[in-house]
Amino acid sequence: MRFVVALLASLLPLSAAELKVASLHPLVGDLARQVGGARVEVVDLIGKNGDPHHFEPVAADLEKVGDVKLYLASGMGLESYLTSLRGIVGGKATVVEIGKDLPAIEEEDDHDHGAEDHEHHHHEQDPHWWHSIDLFRRATTATAEALSAADPAGAESYTKNAAAYRTKLDELQRWSRKEIARIPRERRQLATAHAAFAYFCKDNGFEAIPLQGLNREQMPDPKQLAALITKLKEHKVAAIFPEKESNPKILEILTKDTGIKAGKPLYADGSGVDSYEAMIRHNVSAIVTGLAPSP
Ligand SMILES: [Zn+2]
Repeated sequence: MRFVVALLASLLPLSAAELKVASLHPLVGDLARQVGGARVEVVDLIGKNGDPHHFEPVAADLEKVGDVKLYLASGMGLESYLTSLRGIVGGKATVVEIGKDLPAIEEEDDHDHGAEDHEHHHHEQDPHWWHSIDLFRRATTATAEALSAADPAGAESYTKNAAAYRTKLDELQRWSRKEIARIPRERRQLATAHAAFAYFCKDNGFEAIPLQGLNREQMPDPKQLAALITKLKEHKVAAIFPEKESNPKILEILTKDTGIKAGKPLYADGSGVDSYEAMIRHNVSAIVTGLAPSP
């Protein structure tokens, strides 16, 4: 009997989380689990296969999660609904954008804003910061701070977990650098479906050649498409990579027109992955397989 009581007592803390957090992005959910550890229950509002470019929580989602104290978004303009979410949750919960203090890549916005806007240069932040392992590493700090603010008693634990996870990410970074070193400089051109890999390219000395814009709605017009084909041929691009999330027709047309092979699909927005680490390992392996010269 004493054994059973001791056993129950030892199991109890595992199921009783101190803090309930809702995640609005699959990779931010992983970050919250890594840093939160056993103290935190993370509810993935977006779902494992949700598309962060189009997801927006509805009232039923918010009711389902109940007494959440903290909502975690990835930020940099990806979640356009945050102002209205803040209005809805009011003083009951905090909404934190994990990527808000990270150095963003600014993109020239080439949407047509009409004649009166013509003089203005529109910039938008590229929200895909998770493809930089360095930035994901730095995001552990913002995550630990957000969790500590919501649950001060757990601060020490969150700081410790964040440090342990950074050690894992350092190891992942070393592995990634070693793998990418197999791709010679002149072959470091990453042609992908939508413009999701600018941070990866910046970190690893690649030129990004996206076929679509920052989200999948922006398709090249015929003139841009012709320029793309010329560029792909001139640069002798070795492979064009589809996405796990989408394989647009334009990519099939381009591989056919240029004779450039299609690489293995990459994870662009973190949907459908088991973990951040699994996503990076998959993408780096696919890129190296597609672009490194055969031994
Ligand atoms: Zn994206």
